[in-house]
Amino acid sequence: MSKRGRTANAVRLDVLAMTSVSDNRTHLITAAAFDDGIWQGAGRYRALCDTTVVAASMSSAPGPDCRTCYEHARGAA
Ligand SMILES: [Zn+2]
Repeated sequence: MSKRGRTANAVRLDVLAMTSVSDNRTHLITAAAFDDGIWQGAGRYRALCDTTVVAASMSSAPGPDCRTCYEHARGAA
């Protein structure tokens, strides 16, 4: 019996939550998409649900969760 293969359960999708000013929802963005957004320097990030997130101020309250993003995250976990 191998002990390998179990570690896959511990791997989590590397995402961060960000509220968009365009729809006031909190979307999930992968680290790679976040890097892309930083690189482009426009303050826009591609969320898991394929929405372009325009980053809200960090000091504003987070909006309701984007269900599509969270479903994607669950499905990929
Ligand atoms: Zn979303």
